[in-house]
Amino acid sequence: MLLKRRNYLKRLLLAILILAQNSLKSNENTNKSFKDLFVHDEPSRTTKILIDSIFLKHHISPNHPETPKRIEYIKKLLKKFELEKIISKINLDIDAEFWINKLHTKHHIDSIKKNAPLAHKVSEAAVKAALTSIDMLMNNICDNVFCATRPPGHHAINDGREEGFCYYNNIAIAAKYAQQKYGLKKVLIVDWDYHHGNSTEYMFYDDPSVLFFSTHDQFAYPGTGDPNKKGIGLGEGFNINIHLPCGANDEMILNKYKEILLPAAKKFKPDIVLVSAGFDSKKNDPLGCFDITDDGFINLTKVLMEIADEHCEGRIISILEGGYNVESNAYATVFHILTLQGKF
Ligand SMILES: [Zn+2]
Repeated sequence: MLLKRRNYLKRLLLAILILAQNSLKSNENTNKSFKDLFVHDEPSRTTKILIDSIFLKHHISPNHPETPKRIEYIKKLLKKFELEKIISKINLDIDAEFWINKLHTKHHIDSIKKNAPLAHKVSEAAVKAALTSIDMLMNNICDNVFCATRPPGHHAINDGREEGFCYYNNIAIAAKYAQQKYGLKKVLIVDWDYHHGNSTEYMFYDDPSVLFFSTHDQFAYPGTGDPNKKGIGLGEGFNINIHLPCGANDEMILNKYKEILLPAAKKFKPDIVLVSAGFDSKKNDPLGCFDITDDGFINLTKVLMEIADEHCEGRIISILEGGYNVESNAYATVFHILTLQGKF
Protein backbone atom coordinates (compact mmCIF):
# COMPACT_ATOMS: atom_id res chain seq x y z
CA MET A 1 0.00 0.00 0.00
CA LEU A 2 2.81 2.37 0.96
CA LEU A 3 4.67 1.47 -2.24
CA LYS A 4 1.52 2.12 -4.28
CA ARG A 5 1.12 5.53 -2.65
CA ARG A 6 4.77 6.33 -3.32
CA ASN A 7 4.45 5.38 -6.98
CA TYR A 8 1.29 7.48 -7.24
CA LEU A 9 3.14 10.44 -5.75
CA LYS A 10 6.01 9.96 -8.19
CA ARG A 11 3.62 9.86 -11.12
CA LEU A 12 1.89 12.99 -9.88
CA LEU A 13 5.17 14.84 -9.50
CA LEU A 14 6.28 13.56 -12.91
CA ALA A 15 3.11 15.01 -14.46
CA ILE A 16 3.83 18.35 -12.74
CA LEU A 17 7.41 18.26 -13.98
CA ILE A 18 6.31 17.55 -17.54
CA LEU A 19 3.92 20.50 -17.35
CA ALA A 20 6.73 22.65 -16.01
CA GLN A 21 9.04 21.52 -18.84
CA ASN A 22 6.32 22.15 -21.40
CA SER A 23 5.80 25.66 -20.20
CA LEU A 24 9.55 26.03 -20.90
CA LYS A 25 10.15 27.46 -17.45
CA SER A 26 12.35 25.76 -14.98
CA ASN A 27 10.51 25.19 -11.73
CA GLU A 28 13.27 24.76 -9.19
CA ASN A 29 10.93 23.98 -6.27
CA THR A 30 9.10 21.24 -8.15
CA ASN A 31 12.35 19.79 -9.44
CA LYS A 32 13.87 19.81 -5.98
CA SER A 33 11.11 17.91 -4.20
CA PHE A 34 10.78 15.59 -7.18
CA LYS A 35 14.49 14.83 -7.20
CA ASP A 36 14.53 14.16 -3.46
CA LEU A 37 11.88 11.51 -3.85
CA PHE A 38 14.17 9.48 -6.11
CA VAL A 39 17.52 10.13 -4.54
CA HIS A 40 16.52 8.61 -1.22
CA ASP A 41 14.75 5.66 -2.75
CA GLU A 42 16.88 2.49 -2.84
CA PRO A 43 17.23 1.00 -6.33
CA SER A 44 16.05 -2.58 -6.75
CA ARG A 45 18.50 -3.17 -9.63
CA THR A 46 22.16 -2.43 -10.05
CA THR A 47 22.46 0.00 -12.92
CA LYS A 48 25.72 1.49 -14.20
CA ILE A 49 26.26 4.50 -16.44
CA LEU A 50 29.14 4.85 -18.90
CA ILE A 51 30.02 8.44 -19.73
CA ASP A 52 33.37 10.13 -20.38
CA SER A 53 34.68 13.62 -21.11
CA ILE A 54 35.96 12.39 -24.50
CA PHE A 55 32.34 12.63 -25.70
CA LEU A 56 32.56 16.42 -25.28
CA LYS A 57 35.34 16.70 -27.83
CA HIS A 58 33.74 16.04 -31.20
CA HIS A 59 31.85 18.67 -33.24
CA ILE A 60 30.41 18.15 -36.72
CA SER A 61 30.15 21.91 -37.31
CA PRO A 62 29.37 25.05 -35.28
CA ASN A 63 25.74 25.12 -34.00
CA HIS A 64 25.14 21.57 -35.17
CA PRO A 65 22.29 19.86 -33.22
CA GLU A 66 24.47 16.83 -32.43
CA THR A 67 26.45 18.93 -29.98
CA PRO A 68 28.68 18.19 -26.97
CA LYS A 69 26.05 20.11 -24.96
CA ARG A 70 23.92 16.96 -25.10
CA ILE A 71 26.47 15.21 -22.87
CA GLU A 72 27.09 18.34 -20.76
CA TYR A 73 23.38 18.53 -19.84
CA ILE A 74 23.21 14.83 -19.08
CA LYS A 75 26.23 15.20 -16.78
CA LYS A 76 24.56 18.15 -15.06
CA LEU A 77 21.36 16.21 -14.40
CA LEU A 78 23.20 13.07 -13.29
CA LYS A 79 24.79 15.25 -10.65
CA LYS A 80 21.48 16.83 -9.66
CA PHE A 81 19.85 13.41 -9.24
CA GLU A 82 22.93 12.06 -7.43
CA LEU A 83 23.45 9.44 -10.12
CA GLU A 84 27.16 10.19 -10.47
CA LYS A 85 27.85 7.44 -7.95
CA ILE A 86 26.79 4.78 -10.45
CA ILE A 87 29.12 5.96 -13.22
CA SER A 88 31.70 3.37 -14.24
CA LYS A 89 34.87 3.64 -16.28
CA ILE A 90 34.98 2.67 -19.94
CA ASN A 91 37.61 0.04 -20.68
CA LEU A 92 39.77 1.93 -23.17
CA ASP A 93 42.04 -1.08 -23.72
CA ILE A 94 39.43 -2.98 -25.74
CA ASP A 95 40.53 -3.50 -29.35
CA ALA A 96 37.47 -1.68 -30.71
CA GLU A 97 38.74 -1.61 -34.28
CA PHE A 98 38.76 -5.40 -34.45
CA TRP A 99 35.04 -5.36 -33.58
CA ILE A 100 34.18 -2.33 -35.74
CA ASN A 101 35.68 -4.33 -38.62
CA LYS A 102 33.13 -7.08 -38.06
CA LEU A 103 30.38 -4.85 -39.47
CA HIS A 104 32.05 -1.90 -41.16
CA THR A 105 34.30 -2.15 -44.22
CA LYS A 106 37.99 -1.31 -44.20
CA HIS A 107 37.25 1.40 -46.77
CA HIS A 108 34.72 3.02 -44.41
CA ILE A 109 37.01 2.93 -41.37
CA ASP A 110 40.08 4.17 -43.30
CA SER A 111 38.08 6.99 -44.83
CA ILE A 112 36.72 8.18 -41.44
CA LYS A 113 40.22 7.95 -39.93
CA LYS A 114 41.69 10.02 -42.74
CA ASN A 115 38.96 12.63 -43.19
CA ALA A 116 37.63 12.97 -39.64
CA PRO A 117 40.33 11.72 -37.23
CA LEU A 118 38.77 13.26 -34.11
CA ALA A 119 35.32 11.90 -35.01
CA HIS A 120 36.99 8.49 -35.44
CA LYS A 121 38.59 8.72 -32.01
CA VAL A 122 35.40 9.79 -30.22
CA SER A 123 33.23 7.28 -32.12
CA GLU A 124 35.71 4.55 -31.29
CA ALA A 125 35.36 5.49 -27.59
CA ALA A 126 31.58 5.17 -27.95
CA VAL A 127 32.08 1.67 -29.37
CA LYS A 128 34.41 0.88 -26.45
CA ALA A 129 31.66 2.00 -24.04
CA ALA A 130 29.15 -0.30 -25.74
CA LEU A 131 31.56 -3.25 -25.56
CA THR A 132 32.48 -2.46 -21.94
CA SER A 133 28.78 -2.55 -21.08
CA ILE A 134 28.48 -6.07 -22.51
CA ASP A 135 31.54 -7.17 -20.48
CA MET A 136 30.01 -5.68 -17.32
CA LEU A 137 26.72 -7.52 -17.78
CA MET A 138 28.29 -10.81 -18.72
CA ASN A 139 30.61 -10.66 -15.71
CA ASN A 140 27.67 -9.93 -13.41
CA ILE A 141 28.99 -6.54 -12.35
CA CYS A 142 25.51 -5.08 -12.69
CA ASP A 143 21.98 -5.78 -13.90
CA ASN A 144 21.83 -3.22 -16.70
CA VAL A 145 23.88 -0.38 -18.22
CA PHE A 146 23.17 2.97 -19.87
CA CYS A 147 25.83 4.28 -22.26
CA ALA A 148 25.66 8.09 -22.36
CA THR A 149 27.72 8.30 -25.51
CA ARG A 150 27.96 10.36 -28.66
CA PRO A 151 28.11 10.43 -31.62
CA PRO A 152 25.13 8.15 -32.16
CA GLY A 153 25.48 5.08 -34.39
CA HIS A 154 22.29 3.66 -35.87
CA HIS A 155 22.59 5.47 -39.24
CA ALA A 156 26.25 4.55 -39.85
CA ILE A 157 26.50 2.62 -43.07
CA ASN A 158 29.60 1.84 -45.06
CA ASP A 159 30.01 4.76 -47.41
CA GLY A 160 33.13 6.21 -45.85
CA ARG A 161 31.58 9.28 -44.21
CA GLU A 162 29.27 10.49 -41.46
CA GLU A 163 25.64 9.52 -42.06
CA GLY A 164 22.89 11.09 -39.94
CA PHE A 165 25.55 12.27 -37.42
CA CYS A 166 26.81 8.65 -37.06
CA TYR A 167 30.15 6.99 -37.87
CA TYR A 168 30.10 3.47 -36.38
CA ASN A 169 27.01 1.53 -35.37
CA ASN A 170 27.64 1.07 -31.63
CA ILE A 171 24.62 -1.09 -30.96
CA ALA A 172 25.12 -3.42 -33.91
CA ILE A 173 28.79 -3.89 -32.98
CA ALA A 174 27.76 -4.59 -29.37
CA ALA A 175 25.30 -7.23 -30.60
CA LYS A 176 28.04 -8.97 -32.62
CA TYR A 177 30.40 -8.79 -29.64
CA ALA A 178 27.81 -10.35 -27.30
CA GLN A 179 27.31 -13.18 -29.77
CA GLN A 180 30.92 -13.88 -30.65
CA LYS A 181 32.66 -13.21 -27.34
CA TYR A 182 30.03 -14.59 -24.98
CA GLY A 183 28.15 -17.05 -27.19
CA LEU A 184 24.79 -15.33 -26.74
CA LYS A 185 22.65 -16.67 -29.54
CA LYS A 186 19.77 -14.25 -29.86
CA VAL A 187 19.85 -10.49 -29.54
CA LEU A 188 16.80 -8.24 -29.44
CA ILE A 189 17.51 -4.66 -30.55
CA VAL A 190 14.76 -2.14 -29.83
CA ASP A 191 15.04 1.34 -31.34
CA TRP A 192 12.70 4.10 -30.16
CA ASP A 193 14.57 6.99 -31.80
CA TYR A 194 12.33 9.23 -33.96
CA HIS A 195 14.43 8.19 -36.98
CA HIS A 196 14.62 4.70 -38.44
CA GLY A 197 17.76 2.76 -37.48
CA ASN A 198 18.61 2.04 -41.10
CA SER A 199 22.13 0.82 -40.37
CA THR A 200 20.96 -1.66 -37.74
CA GLU A 201 18.37 -2.98 -40.19
CA TYR A 202 21.02 -3.19 -42.93
CA MET A 203 23.54 -5.05 -40.75
CA PHE A 204 21.11 -7.82 -39.73
CA TYR A 205 18.53 -7.88 -42.53
CA ASP A 206 19.23 -11.53 -43.42
CA ASP A 207 20.13 -12.61 -39.88
CA PRO A 208 17.57 -14.52 -37.78
CA SER A 209 19.77 -14.29 -34.68
CA VAL A 210 18.97 -10.57 -34.29
CA LEU A 211 15.40 -9.36 -33.94
CA PHE A 212 15.25 -5.66 -34.80
CA PHE A 213 12.18 -3.72 -33.64
CA SER A 214 12.00 -0.05 -34.57
CA THR A 215 9.31 2.60 -34.07
CA HIS A 216 9.92 5.73 -36.14
CA ASP A 217 8.56 8.19 -38.69
CA GLN A 218 9.31 6.51 -42.01
CA PHE A 219 8.94 9.82 -43.89
CA ALA A 220 11.69 11.54 -41.92
CA TYR A 221 15.47 11.08 -42.47
CA PRO A 222 16.77 8.67 -43.83
CA GLY A 223 13.53 7.79 -45.65
CA THR A 224 13.71 4.09 -44.77
CA GLY A 225 11.70 2.03 -42.28
CA ASP A 226 8.82 0.86 -44.45
CA PRO A 227 6.77 -1.63 -42.41
CA ASN A 228 6.80 -3.93 -45.46
CA LYS A 229 10.54 -4.43 -45.00
CA LYS A 230 10.52 -7.53 -42.84
CA GLY A 231 13.90 -9.13 -43.51
CA ILE A 232 15.16 -11.46 -46.20
CA GLY A 233 16.04 -15.15 -46.50
CA LEU A 234 16.53 -16.69 -43.08
CA GLY A 235 16.11 -13.21 -41.62
CA GLU A 236 12.55 -12.87 -42.88
CA GLY A 237 10.25 -11.91 -40.02
CA PHE A 238 13.13 -10.69 -37.84
CA ASN A 239 12.93 -7.04 -38.89
CA ILE A 240 9.93 -5.18 -37.52
CA ASN A 241 9.39 -1.61 -38.71
CA ILE A 242 6.58 0.40 -37.18
CA HIS A 243 5.70 3.75 -38.69
CA LEU A 244 4.21 6.34 -36.36
CA PRO A 245 2.81 9.65 -37.61
CA CYS A 246 3.69 13.15 -36.44
CA GLY A 247 2.02 13.77 -33.10
CA ALA A 248 2.43 10.14 -31.98
CA ASN A 249 1.94 10.09 -28.22
CA ASP A 250 2.70 7.83 -25.25
CA GLU A 251 -0.37 5.68 -25.71
CA MET A 252 0.25 5.12 -29.43
CA ILE A 253 3.84 3.97 -29.02
CA LEU A 254 3.10 1.92 -25.88
CA ASN A 255 0.33 0.06 -27.73
CA LYS A 256 2.83 -0.98 -30.41
CA TYR A 257 5.19 -2.26 -27.72
CA LYS A 258 2.44 -4.23 -26.05
CA GLU A 259 0.66 -5.52 -29.14
CA ILE A 260 3.60 -6.18 -31.46
CA LEU A 261 6.90 -6.24 -29.56
CA LEU A 262 5.77 -8.28 -26.54
CA PRO A 263 4.45 -11.28 -28.55
CA ALA A 264 7.39 -11.12 -30.99
CA ALA A 265 9.87 -11.16 -28.09
CA LYS A 266 8.01 -14.00 -26.42
CA LYS A 267 8.43 -16.06 -29.58
CA PHE A 268 12.06 -14.98 -30.15
CA LYS A 269 13.27 -15.47 -26.56
CA PRO A 270 16.25 -13.09 -26.57
CA ASP A 271 19.46 -13.75 -24.64
CA ILE A 272 20.01 -10.00 -24.22
CA VAL A 273 18.03 -6.81 -24.92
CA LEU A 274 19.82 -3.84 -26.48
CA VAL A 275 18.15 -0.44 -26.73
CA SER A 276 18.84 2.31 -29.26
CA ALA A 277 17.63 4.99 -26.87
CA GLY A 278 17.07 8.04 -29.02
CA PHE A 279 15.11 10.76 -27.28
CA ASP A 280 14.40 12.85 -30.39
CA SER A 281 11.06 11.05 -30.33
CA LYS A 282 10.26 13.13 -27.22
CA LYS A 283 7.88 16.09 -27.35
CA ASN A 284 9.48 19.37 -28.49
CA ASP A 285 12.53 17.91 -30.16
CA PRO A 286 13.78 20.26 -32.89
CA LEU A 287 14.38 17.37 -35.32
CA GLY A 288 11.30 15.27 -34.50
CA CYS A 289 7.52 15.65 -34.41
CA PHE A 290 6.42 12.99 -31.91
CA ASP A 291 4.82 13.87 -28.57
CA ILE A 292 6.28 11.24 -26.28
CA THR A 293 6.84 12.35 -22.67
CA ASP A 294 9.19 11.18 -19.91
CA ASP A 295 6.32 9.09 -18.58
CA GLY A 296 6.08 7.40 -21.99
CA PHE A 297 9.77 6.45 -21.93
CA ILE A 298 9.36 5.12 -18.39
CA ASN A 299 6.60 2.81 -19.60
CA LEU A 300 8.54 1.68 -22.69
CA THR A 301 11.54 0.92 -20.46
CA LYS A 302 9.30 -1.14 -18.19
CA VAL A 303 8.08 -3.24 -21.13
CA LEU A 304 11.71 -3.94 -22.08
CA MET A 305 12.52 -4.87 -18.47
CA GLU A 306 9.57 -7.25 -18.47
CA ILE A 307 10.93 -8.92 -21.64
CA ALA A 308 14.47 -9.09 -20.26
CA ASP A 309 13.25 -10.49 -16.92
CA GLU A 310 11.27 -13.20 -18.63
CA HIS A 311 13.92 -14.36 -21.07
CA CYS A 312 17.41 -13.24 -20.13
CA GLU A 313 17.80 -12.57 -16.42
CA GLY A 314 17.06 -8.88 -16.86
CA ARG A 315 20.05 -8.20 -19.16
CA ILE A 316 19.59 -4.78 -20.81
CA ILE A 317 22.12 -2.46 -22.40
CA SER A 318 20.82 0.92 -23.46
CA ILE A 319 22.78 3.25 -25.71
CA LEU A 320 22.00 6.90 -26.39
CA GLU A 321 21.20 7.69 -30.02
CA GLY A 322 19.48 11.00 -30.97
CA GLY A 323 17.82 13.67 -28.81
CA TYR A 324 18.47 17.30 -29.74
CA ASN A 325 16.51 19.37 -27.24
CA VAL A 326 19.45 19.19 -24.89
CA GLU A 327 17.58 19.81 -21.65
CA SER A 328 14.63 17.60 -22.50
CA ASN A 329 16.99 14.85 -23.73
CA ALA A 330 18.81 14.91 -20.39
CA TYR A 331 15.56 14.58 -18.41
CA ALA A 332 14.40 11.65 -20.55
CA THR A 333 17.80 10.03 -20.03
CA VAL A 334 17.57 10.39 -16.25
CA PHE A 335 14.03 8.97 -16.07
CA HIS A 336 15.08 6.07 -18.29
CA ILE A 337 18.00 5.36 -15.93
CA LEU A 338 15.80 5.67 -12.82
CA THR A 339 13.42 3.15 -14.39
CA LEU A 340 16.30 0.78 -15.17
CA GLN A 341 17.15 1.04 -11.46
CA GLY A 342 13.66 -0.18 -10.65
CA LYS A 343 12.56 3.10 -9.11
CA PHE A 344 9.21 3.08 -10.93
ZN1 LIG B 1 17.17 10.33 -34.40
